[in-house]
Amino acid sequence: MKKNLGIYVHIPFCAKKCKYCDFLSSDKDSYGTQLRYMEAICQEIRLYKAVSDRYIVRTIFIGGGTPSLVDENLIQNILTEIRSTFEMDRFPEITIEANPGTIMYQKLLAYRSMGINRISIGLQSADDKILSKVGRIHNFDQFVAGYTSARRAGFKNINVDIMASLPGQDIHSYVDTLTRVIEYEPEHISAYSLTVEEGTPLSCDNRLLSEIPDEETDRRMYSLTKKVLGANGFNRYEFSNYSKPGYECRHNITYWTGGEYIGFGIGASSYFQGKRFSNIRNIHEYTQKLEETQMEIVNTDNIGRLYETVTGNLRVNVEPMYIDRRMEEFMFLGLRMVKGIDRREFYRQFNRDIYDVYGPTINKYIYEGFMETDGTFVKLTDSGIDVSNYILSDFILDK
Ligand code: SF4
Repeated sequence: MKKNLGIYVHIPFCAKKCKYCDFLSSDKDSYGTQLRYMEAICQEIRLYKAVSDRYIVRTIFIGGGTPSLVDENLIQNILTEIRSTFEMDRFPEITIEANPGTIMYQKLLAYRSMGINRISIGLQSADDKILSKVGRIHNFDQFVAGYTSARRAGFKNINVDIMASLPGQDIHSYVDTLTRVIEYEPEHISAYSLTVEEGTPLSCDNRLLSEIPDEETDRRMYSLTKKVLGANGFNRYEFSNYSKPGYECRHNITYWTGGEYIGFGIGASSYFQGKRFSNIRNIHEYTQKLEETQMEIVNTDNIGRLYETVTGNLRVNVEPMYIDRRMEEFMFLGLRMVKGIDRREFYRQFNRDIYDVYGPTINKYIYEGFMETDGTFVKLTDSGIDVSNYILSDFILDK
């Protein structure tokens, strides 16, 4: 039987870097570099013909960066390459990320015609002053225009990303963002708190840093998110993700439940055939390594050899996932899901009962009110989610 697979494609181009951003993306790459990079991704996908017959692709996520910035024909090429390399689910979830400043109706129609059925729009805040403070290229009106165009183009599954604890944001402004987004009735909302990452312009801007809400306000924003969205028909199904029933992001659930996925493009992470790894981060090195093999895939005889050598050259931080490590990850990631961990699934994957491995830890946290179980699912309580970093670290096996 074929195994389920998720595919992530990294498009590392942005119109302008946001001040808080430490994603692998650049606003400096020329159009020529973009073209070469997108072709290199197609080549990386093609190499997987050597192993693709064992998989069926259930989800594709085109993220970045700003995928909506690049020519839609280049996105089409990537999807065509995936479809000719892998068998696809009959009803795959195919998501593309879009920045409100780059959404055009014609492009959205093209996305729909190539089978993209979910769009994730990065709004972050409904307050134009805050958007400009953190270097976003759009305002709220542009979000509304992009969002309504997406609906008009036929998107029935839309996610809106918002952020808490942005510089200058108070509770009132945050709740205003939530309520204004709810008015447009998206199917999914992701709400993450800002983290200040070293090396970003924000991290060295003392004035902006001083405007970031304190931790207590951040906690209040977090609990208000659940309350306000819950009252409007959104279920929190993961720490920071909310959806209308049936619209949970299938791609992200693959990550949180230990499913296999391949990341194509620079810096993209994979969990594939028992190993975790990521791709090299330098765009020129990545493009060059793949261009060198461009002429070589002429027949299927040499595809296995090419797959081994070229993907071997692209991969870094390769980590074999031995059973202890897999169990730890299963707990870390699974406990992020609000429904928690299915004891039967743990047994299915590891041939051991979860209580044989983690019984004392689980029982301790149940006793302290941070975890609960109905006998089948083991999950964090709301107060457990508040201190989840501390609790999750207790599921490391070789401390
Ligand atoms: S649009 Fe997204 S990826 Fe691009 S700079 Fe802003 S936060 Fe980073």
